[in-house]
Amino acid sequence: MSTQAPSLPPPSDEQAYMHVSALEAGHLSVPWDLLVVGDQPDDPMVPSLAFFLHHSKTKKKVVFDLGIRRDINDFVPAAMAESCLPDVKQSVAESLAAGGVPPSSVDVVVLSHLHWDHVGDPSLFTTAEFVLGEGSKKALGLETGSLRNPTFYISSIRIPEDRLRFVTASDLNVAIGPYPRAMDIFGDGSMYIVDASGHADGHINILARTSPDGAWILLGGDSAHHPDMITGKMQVAYSIDANTGAVVCVHEDKEVAEENIRRMRSLSEIPRVQVLIAHDPVWYQENKDKEVFLPHRIPPLVY
Ligand SMILES: [Zn+2]
Repeated sequence: MSTQAPSLPPPSDEQAYMHVSALEAGHLSVPWDLLVVGDQPDDPMVPSLAFFLHHSKTKKKVVFDLGIRRDINDFVPAAMAESCLPDVKQSVAESLAAGGVPPSSVDVVVLSHLHWDHVGDPSLFTTAEFVLGEGSKKALGLETGSLRNPTFYISSIRIPEDRLRFVTASDLNVAIGPYPRAMDIFGDGSMYIVDASGHADGHINILARTSPDGAWILLGGDSAHHPDMITGKMQVAYSIDANTGAVVCVHEDKEVAEENIRRMRSLSEIPRVQVLIAHDPVWYQENKDKEVFLPHRIPPLVY
């Protein structure tokens, strides 16, 4: 069997695309040794990046992930706050407002998954539809009807249940590049929600065109925690529980997470495709003082 390098669909005439801006959304400390095998970064502090996407034609406003809320310590177990040292100088809502976008004007909020450092303060997005992977239902407690219990990773922050849309298996009805399950959310090829499970059940990514002539970006959430994992220089860290023999890993399903990382790797090898994960310390160091944060845009990759 020959393996063919994936490709992405060419643009149509007058192709719609998304303007993408980074949003400051707080920082946290991560235990690198529990995340990656390889040369450990020295600094444990990483950003929890969020993104603003603006449709080139309809002007629909999308936010991907809501970062960390300032009063997060009221919503997570004390052990989490003590070990992760969340630090929010600017929340997503403040980053949007500073860039001229009131949170109440946002049309769609896509949450990669429901871990506490990605759900921010949903209550400020008063009219947005919230889009989540179907696997997130379990974390919300909607399947059992029981009250959600804050765990080490899941906070007690509420998502507006009357404006929730779950991306179902039948929504994920197109294949794009290396991803067999994706959804063309606006029906014009400008932005796809892709199934990127592994880190958490129902974890989703956004794959968006960033120009009318063939540039793309993948917003990877927690699909990986360092860009060297995408190139293969670092691997996913794990251990084996001595009592149960179970794999202990920051990703819910290590093997599925690794398959998803391989997909990101092949995607990143396509010309003009940028891959950006939420906690990327390398990108952040290089770009924190550049004009890539709202109201500015992340420039589309050129040849
Ligand atoms: Zn996570």
